[in-house]
This record gives sequence, structure tokens and C-alpha cells, in this order.
Amino acid sequence: MTEPTSGAQGVALVTGANRGIGAAIAQRLISDGFLVVGATRSGQAPDCTHSVQVDVASPDSISAAIAEVEAKHGPVSVLVANAGITRDALLMRMSESDIDDVLSTNLGGSIRLARAGLRGMLKARGGRIIFISSVVAMMGSAGQVNYAASKAGLIGAARSLAREVGSRGITVNVVAPGFVDTDMTADLDPSRKDEILGAVPLGRYATPAEVAGVVSFLASADGGYVTGAVIPVDGGLGMGH
Ligand code: NDP
Repeated sequence: MTEPTSGAQGVALVTGANRGIGAAIAQRLISDGFLVVGATRSGQAPDCTHSVQVDVASPDSISAAIAEVEAKHGPVSVLVANAGITRDALLMRMSESDIDDVLSTNLGGSIRLARAGLRGMLKARGGRIIFISSVVAMMGSAGQVNYAASKAGLIGAARSLAREVGSRGITVNVVAPGFVDTDMTADLDPSRKDEILGAVPLGRYATPAEVAGVVSFLASADGGYVTGAVIPVDGGLGMGH
């Protein structure tokens, strides 16, 4: 576990911080000097200095989580909407709940999280909002109509919000990972994995820490003039899109 620091950089909230990419982002922001609140379904975030319970598919749960964090720690200066799910199937076989669950978690959850965190950022006249999208938002992916739509929606949402709040010193950006070695990709069948790796110029998956490094840049002073950007962390898989 990363050694907690004072939180001198401000408060950062990361959803889905209990595992995978979210846990790596939380650890990186802690070492960057943020007080990091891991927002998780269980209310536990082992690698974070603080945690809060949230179900990002529930608007009430998001509002309650942000209110709790602000009351305990003050306004959130960095918001990372990372929590996400897949429910893969060919569209002809995709159920209503496969569509609704993925859109309400990945897209609705991120938009509502941003809305809930904005009030504090507007008052503070500054903040960083970072959505975790995916390379498939731009490339498409057979069997992932719901997921790719949710991740593409984040780009339109981020760019619209970047225009709304830029004059208040708030940046809104999208990080678009390619294939990252986490639980989400662990179940892919070996032949599909080989096919993907064959298409990645760097010839390997990303580590969660490599995605976290880009989030760290966007949250840092060096990232202060970057807004409305979609930053790929995909080993070159999506280049040209
Ligand atoms: P994991 O499946 O390892 O982790 C997903 C995280 O999201 C878990 O912490 C999970 O919580 C949380 N989560 C899911 N639904 C909810 C919910 N309703 N409320 C709160 N938390 C929720 O995924 P990754 O770490 O791989 O992915 C993180 C993000 O990166 C996702 O948005 C994903 O789409 C994106 N991404 C991942 C890629 C990859 O190759 N792995 C590639 C491109 C993008 P719990 O533990 O409770 O289930």
C-alpha cells in the first residue's frame, strides 16, 4: 500500500477504487499528495486513505456519497469516474437489462458524478474531472454495442461539460485505455487475447499503473491547460481514430 500523505494537493475521489485501474489511480494520486477517497460499492477501498459507499447506477447514492465526502473532507478537486461494467453479447441477443445496466453505470453514473461534484468545484473556481472511457468508443467492438456506446457517450459529455465550465477553471478530460490487465479482461478466451495483442503495436496489454500515470498528469498542475481531450493509453491500438 502507498504511504498516505497529507492531502496537500486537495481531495480526489475515484470510483471503483477497490480493484483494477481504479485502485492504481487511487494509489498514484495518494503518492502525488492528494487525500484520496475511494468510492466503492462495498464502502471499502483497501488502498485508499478514505472511502465512501456508492452505487454509481443510483443517482441518490451518488448525491449522498458526494455530500458525505464534502462534509468530511471539503470540496472534491479531482473527480475520476472510473467505475464501469461490461455485459457483452451480440446485439440480436442483448437483453434490456444488458443495455440499461451498462448505460446507467458507465455513462449515466459518470455524468451524474460530475454533476454532483461540480457545485464544490464551481465555488472553488477550479477542479479536474476525468472520465475513463475506452479505445472501443472510437473503434467499435463486435459484441459490445452497449459498452462502446456508453464509452463514446463519455466523449460527448466531457467535451460539452468542458465548454460549460472552462471559464471557471475546471477541466474535463477523457482517458481512453486499450486493453489493460485487470479482472475485466481476465476472462477473454486465449484466441481472442492473441488476436488483440496482434493488433496492438506495442504488443502487450497496459498495466493499470500506466493508465494511472496519465490520470495523474491530467490532475497535476502540468495538465492545467488540457481540456476536452481524449487521451489514448492503448499501445497504439486505436491510432488514427
Ligand atoms: P474491473 O472490472 O477490474 O473493476 C471495475 C470497478 O468498477 C470495480 O471496482 C467495480 O466495483 C466498480 N463498479 C462497477 N459497477 C459499479 C457500480 N454500480 N457502483 C460502483 N462501482 C462499480 O475493471 P477495470 O479496472 O478493468 O476497469 C476500470 C474502468 O476502465 C472501467 O470503466 C472500464 O470500462 C475501463 N476500461 C478498462 C479496460 C480494460 O482493458 N480493463 C480497457 C478500457 C477501459 P465492484 O468491485 O464492487 O464490482
